[in-house]
Amino acid sequence: MPVLFAARDGGEVALAHAGWRGLVAGILEYTIAKCSTPAQELVAWLGPAIGPCHFEVGAEVKAAFLAIAENLEQKAALQKYFRATAESGKYLCDLYGIARTKLTQSGIARIYGGQYCTFCEPELFYSYRRDDVTGRMASFIYIREPLLS
Ligand SMILES: [Zn+2]
Repeated sequence: MPVLFAARDGGEVALAHAGWRGLVAGILEYTIAKCSTPAQELVAWLGPAIGPCHFEVGAEVKAAFLAIAENLEQKAALQKYFRATAESGKYLCDLYGIARTKLTQSGIARIYGGQYCTFCEPELFYSYRRDDVTGRMASFIYIREPLLS
């Protein structure tokens, strides 16, 4: 999942690739810390990712997230992003929800995006999980230089 950051004044941008391992490892917190803009002045946009309707994970992924919770409140917050499936030890994971929680805990109040599921929307996205054919997606963020006159 690409997570794009911008300072509200447009003076700084950042982008993180946040799969579940990156989220566990703190990639969002790390990216925010690297910005010179305070978190309260950043906006974040969650780019296309597999949605909570299709992102099936094993118990080890849930355990990895619960292990990084610093207190019972955080643990409870993370727990709700894992919905047990009919298959034992499998969960549907809400990466968008986890990212929103982590961004909010880091001080970012303005969070947008996170409405797509790359698996559910073949007209918009390829999905290796869906089609068994790989493809490429890219998200970009940049600061445009003033046009020369
Ligand atoms: Zn889906």
